[in-house]
Amino acid sequence: MRQSKLFTKTRKEAPKDEVSLNAQLLLRGGFVEKQTAGVYNYLPLGLRVLNKIQNIIRQEINAVGGVEILMPTLTQAENYKATGRDKTMAEVLFSTNGQNEALYYLNPTHEEIVTPLIKNFVQSYRDLPISVYQIQNKFRNEARAKSGILRGREFSMKDLYSFHATELDLDEYYEKVKEAYFKIYQRVGIGEKTYLTYASGGTFSKYSHEFQTLCEAGEDIIYICDKCHIAINKEIIEEQNSCPVCGNSELKTDKAIEVGNIFKQKTKFTEPFSLKFTDEDGVEKPVQMAAYGIGPSRIMGTIVEISHDEKGIIWPEEIAPFKFHLLNLGKDKEAFAFADDLYREMQTRGWEVLFDDRDDSAGIKLNDSDLLGIPYRIVVSSKTMSENCVELKLRSEALTKLIKIADFWQMFE
Ligand code: ATP
Ligand code: MG
Repeated sequence: MRQSKLFTKTRKEAPKDEVSLNAQLLLRGGFVEKQTAGVYNYLPLGLRVLNKIQNIIRQEINAVGGVEILMPTLTQAENYKATGRDKTMAEVLFSTNGQNEALYYLNPTHEEIVTPLIKNFVQSYRDLPISVYQIQNKFRNEARAKSGILRGREFSMKDLYSFHATELDLDEYYEKVKEAYFKIYQRVGIGEKTYLTYASGGTFSKYSHEFQTLCEAGEDIIYICDKCHIAINKEIIEEQNSCPVCGNSELKTDKAIEVGNIFKQKTKFTEPFSLKFTDEDGVEKPVQMAAYGIGPSRIMGTIVEISHDEKGIIWPEEIAPFKFHLLNLGKDKEAFAFADDLYREMQTRGWEVLFDDRDDSAGIKLNDSDLLGIPYRIVVSSKTMSENCVELKLRSEALTKLIKIADFWQMFE
């Protein structure tokens, strides 16, 4: 992509009303633009990052047999009456009226939609297990929406639901998804800082599990067992003050961001919607269910919070909007042609490159490059051209290196 064609502009200062660091940097870089509190537009560079996170999630969930679907945003209020969540979730539900005053909710999560949907396809044990997911925007009327894209009122969620004939089958699948979640966090670059965190399981199971990423901007406190490399959340510390795995009571306190949450809901939602099946002996039983949520937009905000310096964002390679940021600092026609040829060749090779072909000063281009945080900066100028070289710098390192063009092609093949 040519930067001259990018309609977004970088900003020196973040808007005054934006208090969170992730939103300040994302707004300054032109990745997102605020609509209103907790509601953001994703602009070309920001959408590329969000898409990459979503695609990593998609790949890992497909790998554990999840099948992608897309459920609606809007749902008739009756479904929420059936589970009582029109009352228990009343604080966060956005509602709207349709024709003839019919009441609708904008879904904050999709148990009320997926359970009756799956009911249409399940009769016998032979129809199970089923694992379906979607990547979709959720709506929650969050009380405080001051954390940028970490806490949106409209935000992206991947929600997976699995349906099983037995608790044993559910337990086995749940462990597989847990593993898939760790692969996701590893690939997006927050694996080292992310803890499996025991949380309350509600009335239907002892624990649910959160995935908590250590971060100063986190709104949650977790209690870490260094021996087991797991944590427990606030609800659990009130019930027991030791590690649920090894009993260690010397737990370390830290701030964290909840980047995922998985639950064994068992029959909590299948009972209200009478989602049943007949087993091998012809006996009718309720289907066992689990739900697995992960927040792509919150992950994007988390990465900005933990991976930046005073100059801007430092994207991990797998989710960066582009791998290369090619900057032409030369002012004459020859330098421009040299850079343009390089850009075309990189594109031919299928390399993801943002080409700063704007007619701006070197200072502006270099500052913008640091702000945007693309992993590999490639500078060309009259000087590098005369030596048939490019200058390479990693965003995460201070060192610059002159590299012969021929070697450059080899380096990244
Ligand atoms: P929180 O406690 O932070 O409000 P939650 O426990 O209500 O979150 P879940 O219902 O477990 O959230 O949603 C699944 C995942 O969706 C969360 O783990 C998080 O990654 C993401 N998520 C939840 N709420 C938001 C939000 N308001 N903005 C962005 N992502 C969110
Ligand atoms: Mg949660």
